[in-house]
Amino acid sequence: MLIVQKYGGTSLADPQRIHAAALRAVQLVRQGNQIVMVVSARGHTTDELLHTARTVSPANNHRELDALLSAGEQISAALTAMAVEALGQSAVSLTGWQAGIRTDDTYGNARITDINCSRIRRELQQGKIVIVAGFQGIGPGNDITTLGRGGSDTTAVALAAFLKADKCQIFTDVDGVYDRDPRIFPDACRYETIGYGQMMELIGHGAQVLHDRSVEFAENHGITVEVLSAFSGKPGTLVGRFESL
Ligand code: ASP
Ligand code: MG
Repeated sequence: MLIVQKYGGTSLADPQRIHAAALRAVQLVRQGNQIVMVVSARGHTTDELLHTARTVSPANNHRELDALLSAGEQISAALTAMAVEALGQSAVSLTGWQAGIRTDDTYGNARITDINCSRIRRELQQGKIVIVAGFQGIGPGNDITTLGRGGSDTTAVALAAFLKADKCQIFTDVDGVYDRDPRIFPDACRYETIGYGQMMELIGHGAQVLHDRSVEFAENHGITVEVLSAFSGKPGTLVGRFESL
């Protein structure tokens, strides 16, 4: 199977967690799967970079802001590749442009317009785990663009669509999609499955578990997305063409 797995910032926050993510991917490869990992910036990296930018200049140049913010994901990608190689499996980290991800020119909130998957496919054929920096692409003028806060989810779903992957998994710090934020409401209920429309409603009410455009992309391309915990080992929530409850 070809599996796209996205790891959020908390799932890569320290070396042990990076190791755990790498180990999961390596085990899947050893069972005969091909793995593309999409990684977010670690911990609070993106917020810290934004804060520094505002300290340097209150009126930010959007092009430079995207060049800056995209660095967080590149750090994660390189570190994850190193962790995979430390386990004896070959890996390659790719920036958005190396992965062939084209976007429009809306700095800070760019839309993915196309993905040329040839580099990723070549690396997979060579037996490598491919680790793509999430949240970024390259615009019409060949400048780095970012996809909006939380946009790594959209990178993962778009890659799953263009690669025609068999599975798209979003690893996060909660074990699925809940009707309310389970970190605030202990009695929140978890969905086993949820339809795209209902998922969009939850996002409209402030749920941050998935980037809105990732759900749009999934619906338009018929991708079922699994949202699951990077820590619990339990099955998560399937977001797909399901009836509302
Ligand atoms: N690092 C970016 C953010 O904090 C993108 C992401 O995490 O998906 O919004
Ligand atoms: Mg997120």
